[in-house]
Amino acid sequence: LSRRTAAATAARPAARTKARKSRSKVPSEPPPDIVRNATTGAKYKTGALLGKGGFARVYKFQDMATGKVYAGKVVAKSSITGARARAKLKSEIKLHRSLDHENIVSFVQFMEDSKFVYILLEICTNGSFMELLKARRQLTEPEVAYYMWQLLEATEYMHARNIIHRDLKLGNLFIDDKLQVKVGDFGLATSVEHKGERKKTICGTPNYIAPEILDSRNNGHSFEVDIWSIGVILYTMIIGKPPFETSKLKTTYNLIKTNTYSFPPDKPISEAARSLIRSMLQARPSARPTIAEIKAHRFFSDNPIPASLPPTALKRAPLHS
Ligand code: ADP
Repeated sequence: LSRRTAAATAARPAARTKARKSRSKVPSEPPPDIVRNATTGAKYKTGALLGKGGFARVYKFQDMATGKVYAGKVVAKSSITGARARAKLKSEIKLHRSLDHENIVSFVQFMEDSKFVYILLEICTNGSFMELLKARRQLTEPEVAYYMWQLLEATEYMHARNIIHRDLKLGNLFIDDKLQVKVGDFGLATSVEHKGERKKTICGTPNYIAPEILDSRNNGHSFEVDIWSIGVILYTMIIGKPPFETSKLKTTYNLIKTNTYSFPPDKPISEAARSLIRSMLQARPSARPTIAEIKAHRFFSDNPIPASLPPTALKRAPLHS
């Protein structure tokens, strides 16, 4: 489940108020010390809190028989009483468990007891790109090429299966122990029946939301919203802050609607990076490149992609040789 911070635009203020209130639904009661899967009989020892989301708390879960460690997403049943919240959680589970890709957080299993729902996931020990960017401020272009390529692989896989993620952002891109990208949080993901279908639900996260979602004419949106978000991610990794970030939601939305952003003059940003960002951050969804077109962009041929990154790259810029 995602923090539905931008569940509505100015056109639907009531829905936004509702979305804000729902953020306090994180369960206050911790899960039991040992959680037993009633179907398989497996027992898991709950450990440290890894993070909190809109509805969920995520803890370390260790399989007591095998010693294997997972991330256990715990959602209190008391927080999912409404029909919409239940449908959302069911959809997140259904979509996420259908995916199997090395750059997508693996769905391990689903369990429940009288009080909680548990989603067992592959654990990503190095947190998300939010923390990485806080520690590093900005990344080098070869590093960005390395991470972006993996994000593109994951998105290409999702889109080929008619799934739109709809909430791609730094906080939903996790990093595993080998510094591999893992896309997570399918709380806003949706599947399309046919390629031409337009989705009408307004959702996303303010800084990353595509302009067609904010458009009051509401002609719907599709796969291109993920391309827009990847453009925002690319800009943020290279420049160190999101292109439309302001302290006021309304101002951010206005900047997105008017396509107002710029490249800071004091930073050395390659022409290839600027051109790729510009192509993805186009107001008209159909003008944005497909994943295949992004992969063929010269940003990736200009920046030889490192085969791997050293663990020190979490703290300081690697020396690309
Ligand atoms: P929500 O859907 O409620 O927003 P998230 O999926 O975003 O919840 O998870 C909340 C937090 O838990 C994340 O920001 C992160 O800190 C942590 N977390 C989530 N999934 C994992 C994972 N697979 N491995 C490690 N930490 C995770």
